[in-house]
Amino acid sequence: MEIVNNNISIIGAVKSGIAAAKLIKKIGGIPFVSDISEEETLNEFIQELKNEGIAFETGGHSNRVYDCSLMVVSPGVPDDASVLMKARLMKMKMISELELAFNYCKGKIIAITGTNGKTTTTSLCGHVFNQSGVNAFVAGNIGVPFSDIALDVEKEEIVALEVSSFQLDLIDKFKPKAAIILNITPDHLNRYDNSLDKYAESKQRIYSNQDKSDYLILNKDNGEVIKYLKEHKSKSFYFSLDEELDNGSFKKNNSVHFRKNGKDLFQCSVSDIKIKGEHNLSNAMAVICAAKIFNLDNTKIIKALRTFEGVEHRLELVKEIDGVKFINDSKATNVDSVWYALKSFKEPIFLILGGQDKGNDYNQIKAVVIECVEKIYAIGSSAEKIFSFFHSDVKVEIKDSLEDVVSSAIKDARKGDVVLLSPACASFDMFDNYEHRGKLFKEAVNSL
Ligand code: ADP
Repeated sequence: MEIVNNNISIIGAVKSGIAAAKLIKKIGGIPFVSDISEEETLNEFIQELKNEGIAFETGGHSNRVYDCSLMVVSPGVPDDASVLMKARLMKMKMISELELAFNYCKGKIIAITGTNGKTTTTSLCGHVFNQSGVNAFVAGNIGVPFSDIALDVEKEEIVALEVSSFQLDLIDKFKPKAAIILNITPDHLNRYDNSLDKYAESKQRIYSNQDKSDYLILNKDNGEVIKYLKEHKSKSFYFSLDEELDNGSFKKNNSVHFRKNGKDLFQCSVSDIKIKGEHNLSNAMAVICAAKIFNLDNTKIIKALRTFEGVEHRLELVKEIDGVKFINDSKATNVDSVWYALKSFKEPIFLILGGQDKGNDYNQIKAVVIECVEKIYAIGSSAEKIFSFFHSDVKVEIKDSLEDVVSSAIKDARKGDVVLLSPACASFDMFDNYEHRGKLFKEAVNSL
C-alpha cells in the first residue's frame, strides 16, 4: 500500500475516519478528510483534525477528494453515495478503515462478525486473553477504531476486533488469524437492497483471504451461517448449543466442552459463564474456540468466564427494587435480540418495546411474547404498530416517556417479576442513540 508522501482522501469525518487520517499522517502520507455534513454537526471530530493539523473540508466533497492515490471510506458512508460512485467510475482504489489498519498491524487478529452479539463477544474475547496472560487489544466497531491502535500492537499480541459488514465490503488483503461468524439474521438490509443474500455474502468476506494456517469459527446452530458458507482454506471449528462436535465447542447437559479432532481439551460448567441467556452461552462458546485455538490455559479461561460481567446496555441489571428486577437491554435494536432477551428469564416480564421501526416483523416473537410477557409498554413512533399487533393477545399500554413507563411498571410488577427494556427498534425518534435511551432508563429506575 503506497501511503508515504501520497495524497490519501478519507471520506467521512467520523470516529474511524479521523483515526484513519491520523494513522496515515503517522505513516508519512498526506491525509485529506472530506465530509458531506456541516462543520457544526461534526464538532468534536473537526477539533481533533485541527489539533492534528490535518486538512479537511465539510458540507460536501470538492474535486480535491479525487486527487489521491487511495480513498479510505468510513463505515457510515452509504455505498451509493455520489462521491463513491464517481470514484468507482474513475477506477480509484478504495478501501475501508479496517483494511488500512490491517496493513499496519503486526499482531494476530481475531475478527468477530455477525448480526447480533459482536460487542459482547469481542469484549469477552479480549477479557479471556488478557486474563490468561496474553495481551489483547479490543478494537473495531466498539469504541476504539482499529486505526487508533494498529501501530501499537506487537507480533505476539492479539487484537479482538469487532467487524461490521460495512467494513468488510471494502477489504482487499484483510486476513485475520481467526474469524468468528456469530449469526446472520435480517438487519441493516436497507444497506443491501433489502437482500439477505447480499448482506450474508458480505459477511463471508471475513475469511476470503484466509489460508490453511488460519481458523474459521462458525455457529453450527444458525441456518444462515451454514447456508451461505463458501469454500475456504482455513481450518473450521464450530460451536453449538444442540450438537456434540469433534472440532469445536458445544453444550452437553450442564457442561460446555471444546474438542479438537475428537479429543476433549476443555470442559467447564454452564454456570461458570456469568453472562445470562442461551445467546450469551453461544457467544462464550465462540470465544472458547478462539481461546483453545491459541492454547490458553483452561483454569485461566474459566476464571475469566466467571468474572466477565457483560457490556453496558446489553441485558444489564440496573437495580432490584422490592424483588422486581429492572433490566436495560437498550442495544436490542432488532426483533431477534428481543427473542433472546425474553428467553433469558424464567420470571414474568413487563416488556418495554418500541422506537423507530426498521420494518420489524413481530410474528418472529409473537409466540415467545405470549409465553413470557405479562404486559407491553409501547413507546415511540412505532407504539401504534405494536399496539395493533399485540393487543389481542397481551396487555399493551402506550406510554409517552421512559419515566412514565418506569413509574407504571413499579406499580404493575410484583416481587419476582422482571421489567425489561428491549425495544426491538432504533432509538432516533426519541433519543440521540441507544446509549442515551439506556442511560435515561437507568436514571428513571435509579430515581424511583
Ligand atoms: P452487536 O455488537 O452485534 O450489536 P451486542 O453484543 O451489542 O451485539 O448485542 C446487541 C443485542 O443483541 C443485545 O440486546 C444482546 O443482548 C443481543 N445479543 C447478544 N448476543 C446475541 C446472539 N448471539 N444472538 C442474538 N442476540 C444477541
